[in-house]
Amino acid sequence: MSDKNLRSTLLNLDGAGYKSYKNIKGNYQFSDFTLIIDYVQGDPFAAPSKFRVKIPQSVAKFPQKLYKSASRNIALRDYLARQFQKVSRRISSHRGTGKSGLIEIAPTGQEILERTSILIDERYVEARFSVGLPARGRRVLGRQAAAMLCEDIPDIVDSALLHRSLNAQEILHHVKTAEDADYIREQLSTRNLVAFVANNAVLPRRSGIDFRPLENNPVPFVSPCDLEVEFNCPNCGIVKGMGIKEGVTLIVGGGYHGKSTLLQSLELGVYNHLPGDGREFVVTSPNAVKIRAEDGRSVVGVDISPFINHLPQGRSTSHFSTTNASGSTSQAANIMEALEAGGELLLVDEDTSATNFTIRDRRMQALIAKEKEPITPFIDKVRQLYDDYNVSTILVMGGSGDYFEVADTVIAMEDYKPYDVTEQARAIALKYPTDRKAEGGNNFGTITPRSPLSKSIDPSTHKRDSKVKTRDINQITFGTEDIDLTAIEQIVDRGQLIAIASAMVYGKENYIDNKTNLSTVLDLIMEEIATRGLDSITDFPQGDLVLFRRFELAAAINRLRSLKVND
Ligand code: ADP
Ligand code: MG
Repeated sequence: MSDKNLRSTLLNLDGAGYKSYKNIKGNYQFSDFTLIIDYVQGDPFAAPSKFRVKIPQSVAKFPQKLYKSASRNIALRDYLARQFQKVSRRISSHRGTGKSGLIEIAPTGQEILERTSILIDERYVEARFSVGLPARGRRVLGRQAAAMLCEDIPDIVDSALLHRSLNAQEILHHVKTAEDADYIREQLSTRNLVAFVANNAVLPRRSGIDFRPLENNPVPFVSPCDLEVEFNCPNCGIVKGMGIKEGVTLIVGGGYHGKSTLLQSLELGVYNHLPGDGREFVVTSPNAVKIRAEDGRSVVGVDISPFINHLPQGRSTSHFSTTNASGSTSQAANIMEALEAGGELLLVDEDTSATNFTIRDRRMQALIAKEKEPITPFIDKVRQLYDDYNVSTILVMGGSGDYFEVADTVIAMEDYKPYDVTEQARAIALKYPTDRKAEGGNNFGTITPRSPLSKSIDPSTHKRDSKVKTRDINQITFGTEDIDLTAIEQIVDRGQLIAIASAMVYGKENYIDNKTNLSTVLDLIMEEIATRGLDSITDFPQGDLVLFRRFELAAAINRLRSLKVND
């Protein structure tokens, strides 16, 4: 079928009932591309219709150097998604009832992420997007539909998806930036580093809901001399900045001096950022996990005994479950689950930590005997974590100098500038001993694996075999249950939630068998995605999935209230 056929079909449908749109499902050959209509919505208010365009490279003409490496491939696709978004927003107008007239690709933010909205190889560029087929009331608006599908879509293809229509310099800069950031991330561990913040990086954001860089006089980042390292990047050459070494690092400083802003940048340094974001070369170990208190969460069968023991009424903590965790038990569970999933760097902020989990000073040790305090505070475990498991920690701690004893590096933030105060902190620790008794025992303790039970991960409702939905970036509805991911700060895109929900269904169908432990299940799912792409976890091609990390998938599974694990 050709675009002419599509046009006449649409004109003929004018005035018909909305359901008759279902007839247009299929493939149409336009002069420059193929339009594929995969799914047609049943009414103008329902989830919009799903379309794809496939443009042969003989027309699109993207040079291979723009997508030959994995980093560049992801970055080019991300770039094209942004162009599509820009052009479609300009063109797509309101053409009637409900979602009528909408042409929309999955939205993007400050991070460059692998997404299924655009695919690219030597043969094709493929874009996947949603269309709100136009209606007045529940009647087809045939002429408007013909204009959208046969004029607007070709216009978008023309302006957003052909190499000759785009800014070649800008594309090259986009893919090179992502490739350089990936290079630094890959180099970190061989340099015994866990994070890097380039000089001149801009860390603060416009607001708590606007993640573009702060506009008004942000203080650019400048590394302290002692901590400065450099990377020789494949594209932009030498990049200098602050290297954070493995081990235990404290970030200290007065309130409002930029400590949390630095930590938040490190949290998101597991992802690449857009040119112009300010955090292009703020790069963190890919296995960094933000840890915080999260009271109220459910915890299922987690061995939290390294941190919590001898609960009142003799409750076991080696297989600890609760439907309503306290601040300290939730933080302990968050750490143990991060370790189970393979975390290598913990990022902790005093602002979001439970105080009794973080410190227990000399005076409190004297007043409340160790036997009467179930919690072994983080201060007594943070070194063992590194010594026994090679897991590093970066901790924002403006409130207690007790941590000086256990830190390898102490960075002070002052007027948004970092200073290396390690030596001073050591001298102070000698001069003013805390007289604390270490309460952590001889070693960290065990990380006990758990195997999820397949029946307990159930996406069905009484009406449907599988129903999963997402809201914003903090909730998945999985079957009859809502999973609250508000506290998971390293989820940055709604598409990651959509993909995580799909991965949970996929994992249940393929790998979760009551025997395989969670860490292996995560390995298998991530391996599948790495080799066959995100499309491998959905039944048909979707355009709204975004790659997530194993830690965020684990976080969703761990917060499923129906979850059960083997004993
Ligand atoms: P702290 O955790 O030390 O109390 P925050 O990181 O929360 O401080 O920062 C306090 C405020 O300063 C925030 O509004 C933040 O956006 C702003 N800020 C942080 N870093 C900078 C910077 N480099 N330049 C300008 N403003 C900044
Ligand atoms: Mg703070």
